Amino acid sequence: MKTIVNIQKLNKSYGDFQVLHGIDLSIAEGEVVCVIGPSGSGKSTLIRCINHLESFSGESRIEVDGIKVERGRNLAQVRAEVGMVFQSFNLFPHLSVLKNIMIAPMRVRGTPPEEAARKAKELLARVGITEQADKYPEQLSGGQQQRVAIARALAMEPRVLLFDEPTSALDPEMVGEVLDVMRKLAGTGVTMIVVTHEMGFARQVADRVIFMDGGRIVEAGTPAEIFDNPREERTRSFLRAVL
Ligand code: ADP
Ligand code: MG
Repeated sequence: MKTIVNIQKLNKSYGDFQVLHGIDLSIAEGEVVCVIGPSGSGKSTLIRCINHLESFSGESRIEVDGIKVERGRNLAQVRAEVGMVFQSFNLFPHLSVLKNIMIAPMRVRGTPPEEAARKAKELLARVGITEQADKYPEQLSGGQQQRVAIARALAMEPRVLLFDEPTSALDPEMVGEVLDVMRKLAGTGVTMIVVTHEMGFARQVADRVIFMDGGRIVEAGTPAEIFDNPREERTRSFLRAVL
């Protein structure tokens, strides 16, 4: 199976504080990986390193679809291949829903406006909010905004989609609609790395679950291995606290 993300010996420090300790992780095409773990364990930092939203130390190596992630010429190429969905939606407030989705393909890939609009409408249908195309982000519910953010990320046809707690900022009644969209995406072969506290989603949708603590991958395995039969005491105590 083709490797889309390859992380080797990833070390990351903020000043004197080492956040990530020699992370090795390889993600195959079409794989859905859920990253779980306590707050402060380095989950966000790990996925933010993949598109170099965070720099990392020199001996570490990350490749996306064979392209080395580093400051400089490669970076625009890497970022075009990596979609990111944040906890806080981060839509452009002054652009309509449709324009939010059109803008990156037009600016980065040079897609003509008509084609970008046609594709944006298809993506809105895919996330189930066709009727919101001409509204502005502030006119949408949190769940709808997050679905727009997912459509916007997909518009670049990324090789991998990164999600950082995509439902953590949502009112409880909107969590389900966003998880439904993500579940559907997972079923269509999109490669996804999802940092989440939604253990039900991880159990049901992930091909592999990674448990992080203290900037290390403590344990990784299938949902059944991690949730039903964790090997490490740290994994067990975390799951006891959250399940
Ligand atoms: P998680 O997403 O698992 O909650 P993070 O990756 O956000 O964890 O953070 C890991 C650790 O790095 C935490 O101890 C956090 O306080 C620290 N950290 C995160 N961002 C910064 C920053 N910009 N400067 C200094 N420390 C940071
Ligand atoms: Mg985080």
